[in-house]
Amino acid sequence: EKQRLQKLITEPSLSLDGHKVELAANIGTPKDCTGALNNGAEGIGLFRTEFLYLNRDRLPTEEEQFEAYKSVLATMAPRPVVIRTLDVGGDKEISYLNLPKESNPFLGYRAIRVCLRQTDIFRTQLRALLRASTFGNLKIMFPMISSLDEVRQTKRILEEVRAELKQEGASVSSEIEVGIMIEIPAAAMISDVLAQEVDFFSIGTNDLIQYTTAVDRMNEGIAHLYTPFHPAVLRLIQTVIENGHKSGIWVGMCGEAAGDPALIPLFLGMGLDEFSMSAISVLPARELISRLNREELKKKVPEILQAGTAQEVKEKMGALGY
Ligand code: PEP
Ligand code: MG
Repeated sequence: EKQRLQKLITEPSLSLDGHKVELAANIGTPKDCTGALNNGAEGIGLFRTEFLYLNRDRLPTEEEQFEAYKSVLATMAPRPVVIRTLDVGGDKEISYLNLPKESNPFLGYRAIRVCLRQTDIFRTQLRALLRASTFGNLKIMFPMISSLDEVRQTKRILEEVRAELKQEGASVSSEIEVGIMIEIPAAAMISDVLAQEVDFFSIGTNDLIQYTTAVDRMNEGIAHLYTPFHPAVLRLIQTVIENGHKSGIWVGMCGEAAGDPALIPLFLGMGLDEFSMSAISVLPARELISRLNREELKKKVPEILQAGTAQEVKEKMGALGY
């Protein structure tokens, strides 16, 4: 079994009927690139940059960040690397930022909301990212987008930073894709509009489940209610993929669900283009996809999405042999 998987390390990710997808890895530090490559990842679908900011007493400098981004981009080149800008708040606390104590941190001042208010922090990160862009295939991704205004503001700041670097004579790649995470139901619902502003979507199921079902992802007491099989979550995912494709952009997923063998057939049927998961899940996912017929799965999706409960979704999938 292990040998069979090893043979797939350098293979593309193809379904039985020849439909190609990309299987990427989620990483938290530059060191994780080794695991990603050893497990046959075709790229990095989510580089969480929080490690640069955590467990220290001051902000990371532009130079420190530049070195980290450059290292990942160069190690993975020419493969794509999606680097996500700072996603603090919620469960991720950073003491020196003096973020306010809030009664609902997951609904509060976090991620892009922090970056759009404390723009000095954001600009430093964007400068480091743009400067690192010439060392590989960089895609920049913004977390916790809930509105079109946020996308436009974010892009405006990015362009200002690009212009500033250009004036300084720094070289910046002209091929950087800019995308957003879809992890808030509001963003999923207006994904047709958002798709016209960005180069890609990446669906963050970890938060999308929490915000769609009003189930705190950290609360063990209600963990049984937290499931990607909830038909509401699956319908939103379907909507996002359709809307992305209508605008001609690619749609990935970087939440935990992307690596779940029980869901991969459904997402493949929905047309998901990129699946980003923990490195150890990549080869099993590639093997699974090689046995799946994409066109047949596509036909089953509407029927599965008619389910009323998570249990029913599982039963319908089971009845189809998945
Ligand atoms: C997500 O919300 O699905 C996600 C990938 O981001 P994080 O788990 O870092 O919130
Ligand atoms: Mg998230």
